[in-house]
Amino acid sequence: MRSERRKGEPMGKVWLVGAGPGDPGLLTLRGREVLERAEVVVFDRLVGAGLFAFFPEGAERLDVGKEGGRHPVPQREIEALLVDRALAGRRVVRLKGGDPFLFGRGGEEIEALLAHGVPFEVVPGVTSAFAAPACAGIPVTHRGAASSVHVVTAHTRDGDLPDRDFEALARLDGTLVFLMGVGAAGALCSRLVEAGMAPSTPAAAVERGTTAHQRLVAGTLASLPELARSAGVRPPAVLVVGEVVELAERFGWRGALPLSGVRVLVTRPRGRAGRLSRMLRDAGAEVAEFPCIATEPLTGPLPLLEGAGWVGFTSVTGVEAFFGLLASAGRDVRELGSARVAAIGPATRDALRRHGLRVDYMPDVYDGAHLAEGLADRMGTGDILLFRAESGSPELTEVLRARGVPFREAALYRTRYARGAPLPDFDMALFSSASTVRGLAACVPDGWDRSRVQAVCIGEQTARAAAGAGFANVTTASSATLEALVEAAIRAASSSCPDARTHWSPGQRM
Ligand code: SAH
Repeated sequence: MRSERRKGEPMGKVWLVGAGPGDPGLLTLRGREVLERAEVVVFDRLVGAGLFAFFPEGAERLDVGKEGGRHPVPQREIEALLVDRALAGRRVVRLKGGDPFLFGRGGEEIEALLAHGVPFEVVPGVTSAFAAPACAGIPVTHRGAASSVHVVTAHTRDGDLPDRDFEALARLDGTLVFLMGVGAAGALCSRLVEAGMAPSTPAAAVERGTTAHQRLVAGTLASLPELARSAGVRPPAVLVVGEVVELAERFGWRGALPLSGVRVLVTRPRGRAGRLSRMLRDAGAEVAEFPCIATEPLTGPLPLLEGAGWVGFTSVTGVEAFFGLLASAGRDVRELGSARVAAIGPATRDALRRHGLRVDYMPDVYDGAHLAEGLADRMGTGDILLFRAESGSPELTEVLRARGVPFREAALYRTRYARGAPLPDFDMALFSSASTVRGLAACVPDGWDRSRVQAVCIGEQTARAAAGAGFANVTTASSATLEALVEAAIRAASSSCPDARTHWSPGQRM
């Protein structure tokens, strides 16, 4: 590997970024900001797949964690990689689980960068040591229960319990949080008892904290090793020892949320998923954004607006593309003259409103067929000019044709599928249009089992596309709004109860 500065190339930079404990919502704002501008992303296995959506399209992604039997890239090679890419002038984000300096070997990487004169910046992260207990309802300190917290690794290079002064740890009388301690749980709990802690001291394991698979196994120093073993607790998990563990029974909060334990895939295009993802997270879901379609505006002459009695818009993208085209032609909204304006639903109506256009007609049921019927009933002079996607869905035009209504179509944008992007695991996919269904179908590998996941669709047309694409469990929203889509997701989750949901119960003492 080359590690020399190439002549004439400007120096790049490395950002050592804490990815947080697994829930993508726990990446910091600064972390997201630098990630979105990265040219190279080097990431570990503990980095939640939900963060992939923030990787810029076209950035080089280097997975240096171990997964599926592959070995991890050795630490020295990772360091050489960072140096190499930075010397080649690239903006490199080194994304590490939790906080980069808490048992994250961040310091070693900085030593390597310093040795080669590579500039760097550190973006701290939310550490699993505190976040995993917090999401299980365990405050690591609490008045009257613990006035200090100590984060300790339970792992040594050769896999044994580290030779530390357990008597000193026992005397601290604070909360002890052990990382990398699943394998050593038995030895660890016995050593703490030998060192003078009461066997009845509360102790817990929090597995995959902050994610949909979060699980709390709580007991005492005497009972935890067996409880964890029989529950099959696996890494990553933190072990928490101290009185504060008992608070989980009352402070556990996640299980009460209707989508807790459900991994939801949001398939909307980049930049359009924000509100939906937020509503889903409010309901407790672990959300991964997977923009399986992208839209690109089509350039071309402005269609002749003169003669149109109605102009119809069927998506927010169409509205934005229309105003883009208008502006690039050096025109403005006055071009619409006396044409009346129709929108397929509230999101499109609101987009038009933001551009200063009041909507004259919006159907009660937000789909193409109803829009067409409504327009056909309201025809006066002139025809209907529809601003749509290239190869938009046929429902709208079929009804207009059947009703003998004159119309023209102007294709303003094209939908592209995001083939090749790595697909995160999920229990449920949300589809806000038939094209997102087709987009996801184009992205999943051959033979991918569609019966394992729920498809939640914004309307009948989308549901038909989902059934047609082989999804067996399809739920349809009661109306075509994001609110109704989230309600449908909650309905689907409570009727099916995927495994993930039974993993979890707040404050559970096993
Ligand atoms: N820098 C990381 C820790 C890296 S060491 C941080 O600040 O979180 C890896 C250990 O972190 C794991 O063995 C486990 O003990 C803990 N860990 C990481 N993610 C976790 C999660 N989501 N839930 C529970 N423990 C986690």
